[in-house]
Amino acid sequence: MKKNKAKPHILLVEDEETLAIGLEFNLQAEGFEVDLAADGRQALELYVPGKYDLIVLDLMLPYVDGFEVARRVRTQDARQPILMLTARTQAADKISGLQAGADDYLTKPFHLQELLLRVQGMLKRKSWYETSTEDESQVRFGRNEVNFDNLQCRSAKGAFQLTAQEAMLLRYLIDHKNKVVSREELLENVWNIHSDVETRTVDNFIVRLRKYFEDDPSNPQFIKSVRSKGYLFELKE
Ligand code: CA
Repeated sequence: MKKNKAKPHILLVEDEETLAIGLEFNLQAEGFEVDLAADGRQALELYVPGKYDLIVLDLMLPYVDGFEVARRVRTQDARQPILMLTARTQAADKISGLQAGADDYLTKPFHLQELLLRVQGMLKRKSWYETSTEDESQVRFGRNEVNFDNLQCRSAKGAFQLTAQEAMLLRYLIDHKNKVVSREELLENVWNIHSDVETRTVDNFIVRLRKYFEDDPSNPQFIKSVRSKGYLFELKE
């Protein structure tokens, strides 16, 4: 369902008071409506599925940490965009953070401008995804069926659920079916990141999609590699 809200609504979860107040002020100055939660418990009390366009979630929080907040939010809304804030010393946690359902992460300390760019990028992707899936939320290819609203899928291997990021990548490939898309294009449009992240990220996600949807992932019928160019979703009509 398409929402026409005047201001994007952000839930900001941050326990460092000075940082929280600074971020709240700056996000409001950028035209966002902000609810502030000082710990994980408060975040879960404030959270209502569909209420927030984005959750900016600190990882280390009192009572309930960011992983657990993300996990519980995800069980209620698989598509809720979450930007995780991590400390530089928690590099290993980044991966688990993304697996726990964060769509993107930012390492502290960060520049305010960097955060604002990430936030805007995530909101842009959210609105692209909503527009794209509005007319066609159910897609079938081969023996696969994907519901882009609740991310529930069926394949020859059974029923399962995609993560928001997997769904976005698949959607982008399907929207550009029978055309070659480069890793850089995918990074920019699906992840909203440029040079700072390796294109291997894209390859890892492609491997996951093939495992889900291809009868033989080593010989893909839909999600094909185009040597030195990128990927192509092939669908003969
Ligand atoms: Ca913290």
